[in-house]
Formats: sequence, C-alpha cells, structure tokens
Amino acid sequence: MVDKQALLRQIPAVHEVLQTETAQHLMRELPRTIVTEAVRKALDKVRQKILSGDDSEVPSAEKIAQIAVSVLWREVVPLMPRVINATGIIVHTGLGRSLLSQRVVKRLIEVATHPCALEVDEVTGERSFRDLRVEKLLCLLTGAEAATVVNNNAAAVLLILNALAEHREVIVSRGELVEIGGSFRIPEILRKSGAVLVEVGTTNKTRLSDYERAINERTALLLKVHQSNFRIVGFTEQVQLEDLVALGRKHNLPVVEDLGSGAFVDVSAAGIEKEPLVQESVKVGADLVSFSGDKLLGGPQAGIVVGRKDLISQLRRNPLYRAFRCDKLTFAALEATLLCYFDEERAWSEIPTLQQIRLNEREIKGRAKKVARLLVKFGLPKEAVAVQPSTSQVGGGALPDQFLPTWCVVVKPQEGDRPDDFAQRLRLGNPSVFCRIQKDALWFDLRTVLNDELNELAECIAKAWAENLQVR
Ligand SMILES: *Cc1c(COP(=O)(O)O)cnc(C)c1O
Repeated sequence: MVDKQALLRQIPAVHEVLQTETAQHLMRELPRTIVTEAVRKALDKVRQKILSGDDSEVPSAEKIAQIAVSVLWREVVPLMPRVINATGIIVHTGLGRSLLSQRVVKRLIEVATHPCALEVDEVTGERSFRDLRVEKLLCLLTGAEAATVVNNNAAAVLLILNALAEHREVIVSRGELVEIGGSFRIPEILRKSGAVLVEVGTTNKTRLSDYERAINERTALLLKVHQSNFRIVGFTEQVQLEDLVALGRKHNLPVVEDLGSGAFVDVSAAGIEKEPLVQESVKVGADLVSFSGDKLLGGPQAGIVVGRKDLISQLRRNPLYRAFRCDKLTFAALEATLLCYFDEERAWSEIPTLQQIRLNEREIKGRAKKVARLLVKFGLPKEAVAVQPSTSQVGGGALPDQFLPTWCVVVKPQEGDRPDDFAQRLRLGNPSVFCRIQKDALWFDLRTVLNDELNELAECIAKAWAENLQVR
C-alpha cells in the first residue's frame, strides 16, 4: 500500500522544476510566466496520477520539466502541430486539405514579404477588384464569361443564394439536400441566405416534371447540388444538368450548380470514377457553378464561382461579398495553382493532391518496404511489422465510394498495449502522426506520406512503441 500523501509531499516545487536544464533552456526562448504556467500544469498532472493510483513514484524535477515542455506546446501556447498524414485520405479536411507545391509556396513568400498590386490596376493606378486577375485565368480554363472568388465554397453558396434569391424561392431536389459535414447543410444555408427552400421529388427519384410543377412567380433559381460525400444506389433518378438548364432557359430562371469539389482534370485517368469537371458544367450551360479551391483542385482554401457575367457582377455588389473576401495570400496561391492547369500534365505532376491521386502502387509499396525496414532497424520485432495492400480514399467529399489501391505498413501493438493508446501517443508526437486503426493494428498508408517524411515516420512509430515499454 503506497502512502499517497507521503508521495505528494515529495513532489518538487515549482521553483525546483524551473531550475532544471530543460526549464532553463525553455526560458531562453519564452517568457518566464509562460514556462511557469506549463510547469504548474505538469505538476497538476503528476499530482492527479498519484491520487488516481496510476503512479506510485514521484518523477524527478527534470522529468517534470519534460512533461512541462509537451504541456506547454499543447495547452499553454498551442500551435497546430505539423502532421504526417498516414491515413491515406488525400484531401483530409481535419488535416488541412490540399498541400501546396514548392512553386506555389515561392509565390506565396514573394507576395507575403512584399507589397503587391492586390486591388489596384497598375495601368491606370486606380482602385479595382481583387479578383479580376484570377478571373481571367478561371475564364480561360473553364470557358466561363466571368468568375469570382470568396473565402470558401460554403461562403460562395451562401453569397449566391443571398444575392440572387433573398425572399424568393429556390427549387432543390430532395436527393440533393446534403450535409457536407460540420454545420454546412443545404437547407440551413438556404434559410440563412434569406431564400425559401422548395423541395421537389423524393430522396431517390426526382424528375424534370417535379421541378417544372414547382416553378411559379416567386421562383428565383434552380439549384443543383453535387452529391459529393454519399451515393444513392438502386432505384434512382436525378435530373441531368442539361435538362435543368433547358428548363431554366424556358422559364428564364438561372440554374446554379454547387459542384462541391469540382475538378479541372479528369481524375478517372487514375483508375477511379470521374468527378464532374467545372468546364463541362459551364459548357452544358449552368449559369453559375461553385466549387472549392482546396479539394480536388489542389489549391488554397477558397470558394470559386464561374458563370454569367451579369450574375457575377450581382455577387460582387452584394455586401456579403466584402465580408467573404480572401486575402492576398489566397489569391497568390490560387493564381499559381491555376497556372499549372494550362498544361494538364504539369497539373498532374506538380499539384500535390493530383500527384497523390496518381501515385502508382509500385512507388507506394517501395515506400512501405522502406519504412518497414527502418522500423526493424529501430528495434521493433519483425513479427510486429508487415507490409500489406489496402485502399486509400480521395476524401474532401469527393468520390466516397471509390478506392485507390495502396500499400500500408501494418504495426501490431505489443501485448498489453492498446491500438487506441498507441495511436494517441503517435498523434501526440512531434511531428504528430495520423494513421488508421484496423483489425487491432495500426495501418500507415504510404500514399499520403511524403517521400522526405519516411525516416521521420519510422522514428515517430519507434518512439511511440518504446514509450509503451517505459510505462511498464
Ligand atoms: C465541400 C462542399 C461544400 C463546402 O465547401 P468548402 O470549400 O468546404 O466551404 C459545399 N458544397 C458541396 C457539395 C461540397 O462538397
């Protein structure tokens, strides 16, 4: 029986922990108040562990200072940890979606560290709109007459509905009243925009006649929403965009399409189903098409709208447009990303999101084997490490039922360790590692791990593995 009170009395005082080498080192970089706060929190944790009976030994002052370091960066001055994405989900919203290429980042740095002609015309010297340059690129790429860019696609949809349909009716198929995750639900966005939702058809079947019957003098527009993150299979029917466009023309109503992800290149080249192309929707005649900048497009977070010139001007005149505008960094990254698309092969080879979609199995398997070898070298038993085929997902709401063949390193936790605990230790590491848990093992999908992260990944796994040994 341990005497908890006696143990508690042995815990070092704050000032003792502050004397340690680790704490002294920290204080050279950070104010004393912040380090002290972290030490207090670390001491609290030590006290809790003793009281709960999890610990029957008092850690040294140095050990407590080390706990304080991790507490400091997580709880006192929390910064987003850098992450190694071993989930295999390419466009992972939780992990920040698309990565930017070196070339895009170079442009970002230039614009971040220098003034740029963001909102002035260098010919006349007069004030102008900040999205006029990117508009030119978007029009060239999609064939649209006009384009604009706001903070994200949710904002784009809200802006469109408010600008074109406030106090009037918007007709949407019941099969397209989607939730994109978080709080983005089409019916709620519609309500917030001040538009009135008119649902037509059923979950699985909606016909053109359903739309036509709902049209009246209060109708503002017809909305089509891409069923990005789910599929309805079986006895189904949805109205094709071209039929909706014909109906819109007949009644002089704009047809708006929320494409969700929206792609500029055909991803079926990578062996999966095709995602709708923005330029095809424009060609078919959608009056406005909106999509995200950081999903399949592979750029920065943005909401892009392309379409009819008069409607885009209406968006620009709306007060929400000002509220939803992007900063110069977004425009710089978007410009540079769009530039890649003028040469399709360049887009596939330079844009990280597309690169990862097209990555071949042989390359991924090579990475997996390398990580497996390193793990054994770093002390994991051979039996605990395997290289296995699996499947990756595109993510970002795109192609929910499509799987890309991939290779994983599979690590079995040792006796007495739990997969969830092991995964948590990995997430708490530096860099933080995210992977999949399947069949009581940790699966590291190498499709989304960058080539220069392989060594680091193996080190992180080996460290999290050894941390379990320390506990025992
Ligand atoms: C992802 C998505 C949105 C939201 O886009 P964000 O850029 O995340 O704001 C809206 N509509 C659809 C259909 C989507 O898939």
